[in-house]
Amino acid sequence: MTRALYHGSHDLLFTAHVMHAAGQEVALDATALYPEAGGQAADTGTLRWTGADGEPRAATVTHSRQEKATGLIWHALTGDVHPVGMPVKGEVDAARRWRHSQRHSAEHLLAQAFVRVNPAFTVDAVNMTGPECTLDLRGDPAELHVRAAETLLRETLGRTDLTLETPVVPDHDLPRYPLRRAPKVSGNVRLVIFRDGQGEPFDVSACGGTHVPRASMAAPVVILRTERVRGGVTRVTFMAGEEAGAHLSGVYAGARRLAAGFSVPVERLPERVEALTAERAALAAQVDALHAAHARTLRDAAPTEVHGPVTLRPVTLRLVTLPDPAGLLPALTDLTTGEVVVAVTDAGRVGIGSAHPDLNAAGVLRAALTASGGKGGGRPDLAQGSTPDVAAFTRAVRGALLTTA
Ligand SMILES: [Zn+2]
Repeated sequence: MTRALYHGSHDLLFTAHVMHAAGQEVALDATALYPEAGGQAADTGTLRWTGADGEPRAATVTHSRQEKATGLIWHALTGDVHPVGMPVKGEVDAARRWRHSQRHSAEHLLAQAFVRVNPAFTVDAVNMTGPECTLDLRGDPAELHVRAAETLLRETLGRTDLTLETPVVPDHDLPRYPLRRAPKVSGNVRLVIFRDGQGEPFDVSACGGTHVPRASMAAPVVILRTERVRGGVTRVTFMAGEEAGAHLSGVYAGARRLAAGFSVPVERLPERVEALTAERAALAAQVDALHAAHARTLRDAAPTEVHGPVTLRPVTLRLVTLPDPAGLLPALTDLTTGEVVVAVTDAGRVGIGSAHPDLNAAGVLRAALTASGGKGGGRPDLAQGSTPDVAAFTRAVRGALLTTA
């Protein structure tokens, strides 16, 4: 198996030998590159060696994984693959490792903060493979619990110097430690402990991941949102460390620009947006009323044509072209007895309103839509549809009225 160097020291440079090579992957006898595990993403980095020609060679490590059966840690490489047996110098991408350590430490600390708010808030699953990390919790935490846990952790990180210890203890010694959750492994178990200056542990977890040496180095830990996922589990999405700081700073800059546009301080943005939303709703209602009034004005101003007799009574027809489909319904309703209105828009929305006892709006509409290639339907007093050819539709309506006679 591969000797793991990522637990012992924080040295990100190492020397090793290639034990196996397969395709674009090599397994080393030792590595400081953390393989993806326990919700923590894999390290990336560089391998360097001297070629047979004496020239320096290098390959980029894009992924690292541990093979369960053999314990070998395989590194996926781009570029040259190093020959088996030769020594190689490795280097871990330090910035990426640091971000992963901040995320992972924050995950332990935040989980502990939730347990301190309520012991029922236990961890179901975690993921720290992206800047937005997740903690799936049982126990149904409400918003006030979420805020309490975030505040508890902020105050702890700001006021207490918690330092990291990672002892490896035999499992029969585990009862001596206040573990937050039962370990998934047996035998010798690696513990991750954040302890204060008085020796009091804040959090004790069995964990094989990488962590920052002082808990305050994972700050700030910020909860972005929570959501209910599968049965009884709440997903808490959080950010930690530099990623959280950069994210919040960006969000604040955006909020400040928005607030400047409204000429209010950032703190008053919510009330400004609420006021604008209410104003928008009132304006939308006004626009609807104006569309209706305008449509009826246009209808009443349209010249009347007398057709018929449909049966015994002539039809008074008004044909109106509306600027907006919102005016259709107002233009086609509240008609005086004997009146028939045909309303169209340039975009092809059409309708017929009938207050004539012998004229079936749906029948005339269907006939005219069949003739003009559109579709629609309705009742004897009101029918609507759409057509690709408005001129053909109005011609067909007139034709229908004449032939009905
Ligand atoms: Zn862990």
